[in-house]
Amino acid sequence: MAEFSIIDTYFNRKNQDSVDLGVGDDSALLTPPPHQQLVICADTLVAGRHFPLDTNPHAIGWKSVAVNLSDIAAMGATPHSILLALSLPQIDHAWLKGFSQGLYDCCDQFGVRLIGGDTTQSPHLTLSVTALGWVDTGLAVPRSGAQIGDLICVSGTVGDAAFGLKHLGHDLQKRLDYPTPRCVLGAALKGLANSMIDVSDGLAQDLGHILKASNVGAKLQLENLPLSTALHALNDEQKWQYALAGGDDYELCFTISPQNYEKLLQKQLDDSISIIGTIQQQRGLTFEKDGVDHLLQFNGYQHFA
Ligand code: ADP
Ligand code: MG
Repeated sequence: MAEFSIIDTYFNRKNQDSVDLGVGDDSALLTPPPHQQLVICADTLVAGRHFPLDTNPHAIGWKSVAVNLSDIAAMGATPHSILLALSLPQIDHAWLKGFSQGLYDCCDQFGVRLIGGDTTQSPHLTLSVTALGWVDTGLAVPRSGAQIGDLICVSGTVGDAAFGLKHLGHDLQKRLDYPTPRCVLGAALKGLANSMIDVSDGLAQDLGHILKASNVGAKLQLENLPLSTALHALNDEQKWQYALAGGDDYELCFTISPQNYEKLLQKQLDDSISIIGTIQQQRGLTFEKDGVDHLLQFNGYQHFA
């Protein structure tokens, strides 16, 4: 079966509203909505590196889209479409069926279309997704905008995916395999949050990117970290290790002024949001214990470590 037959069988669904030209030509065509900026990102998953070779293909399809939609959400933007670059060692129809179903399930859940890509043969199974989205011009939320006095917030619960990876078969493995990009919350934060990042490499490391880009420091209240029941049962050291250093949660971490936090609450979104600290002038990531400030030294995931 040739490349074109794979594309036609698995990656060429026709329902393509708001796409001028999708899969089938040399490039796709979109008309940008008025007064919007294009937001674009890419993420690659390599089999054996980012997921075990025997991972359920449906979960791989879901996750390859979800991690990109999370990056779009972390800009305060709304995702619109994706492109898929697929390198396959061989044609495995059961795998392609599961993978494409997972990919489209995630697309459908978040109103996103697959508008093109590339399909090649290679010794390693590699999936690269590019996501496109729109945001009102000037309202995207960068990492660099944190202000002294901002509240530091995080959505959902943190540490679940790392716990799920350590305890395969536990309920929390779902959080590892099927992360939920916080698309509604991300878009709701445009023009409200001062800075934002999605938690992919661990909360401490990812918040660290905000602090560095914004030239500020932070003080965390560790007891306010939002944890699932399974993590609550652990001792403090273990739970904070998961919550601060565990990657792959795809929650949003953002900083926001107290006034805008009130406006956010008025939007009555479904997502749970926890205030976990404040932005301060003094550099570094600190937390208070028994009235004394301590410097946090957790490391998240580093690709070339
Ligand atoms: P070209 O040779 O001009 O790069 P291709 O033959 O690679 O075009 O692809 C044909 C069409 O199929 C293009 O519209 C491309 O975007 C689309 N396509 C190729 N692979 C994929 C894929 N894995 N998922 C979605 N669309 C794909
Ligand atoms: Mg090609």
